[in-house]
Amino acid sequence: MQGQGRDQRTRTNGLLNIPASVKLSHVPDPDSKIIFLGTGNAFNTDGRASQSIWVEPEGGAPFLVDAGPTALASMNRYGVNPDALEQVFITHLHGDHIAGWPFLLLHSLFLARRARPLKVFGPEGMKQRLERLASSCYEELVSDGSLAFEIDYHELAVTEISGVDAGSGILLDVVPLDHHPTSIGYRFHVAGSTIGVSGDTRWCPGLEKLAKGCDLLILECTCLEKPEFAHVSLKEVRDGLDRLEAKRLALVHLSDDVARALAQKPIPDVIAAEDGMILKV
Ligand SMILES: [Zn+2]
Ligand SMILES: [Zn+2]
Repeated sequence: MQGQGRDQRTRTNGLLNIPASVKLSHVPDPDSKIIFLGTGNAFNTDGRASQSIWVEPEGGAPFLVDAGPTALASMNRYGVNPDALEQVFITHLHGDHIAGWPFLLLHSLFLARRARPLKVFGPEGMKQRLERLASSCYEELVSDGSLAFEIDYHELAVTEISGVDAGSGILLDVVPLDHHPTSIGYRFHVAGSTIGVSGDTRWCPGLEKLAKGCDLLILECTCLEKPEFAHVSLKEVRDGLDRLEAKRLALVHLSDDVARALAQKPIPDVIAAEDGMILKV
């Protein structure tokens, strides 16, 4: 990773760790920020919430990356308003990243009474999967006229794409990753910053490509050693930091043993994300 020789101030610069009881919407903050709604893996070890990342660009509309099963609960807990979302980005079609989708729709329909469209970006096959998921939970969430707002699906090929105009001032790069046939990583160019989000992946050339030029890379780190399934291990992060050319790194999708190992032996300039953590970009 670039800049390992930076001074101590950089390590915590921009990082606010606010207790869950604090309502974030009441904290005045002119900067772009990330709120980690969920930093856990598919098993919610240590009680961590499922992967959902809230991004609030300076002067722009918030967007969500992944909607894990606990996404709506975390939005309520940390005081962010789901109805403020203009876009949702899905990294791949595994349940721990999408199973919160029906409840976002339920909130939009019955509580927010949303009228404006919601854009959803994700890999090919996303529309059918999300519609099936929603209709399995509540029949009224299918697009049969019950919804008072349009869901604007944007399916992306699982291939390298640069400069997609996602609206609301967001330019998007897409990099295919190695975890599931639908896995893509995102690089968001927004409000003068570049934010990368890996979703789930094993360590692969695509990951190193994704990291390049990021002010912040949010990277999954699921296990301690080389995993049996396609995930990044903490050992790989420790050994391969120099190959990730991002200015800062935040680790998510953490298992309890990885979180404990990071607490015992932190990596300089690498943030072990926690639920409710706010990171200024
Ligand atoms: Zn996955
Ligand atoms: Zn996952």
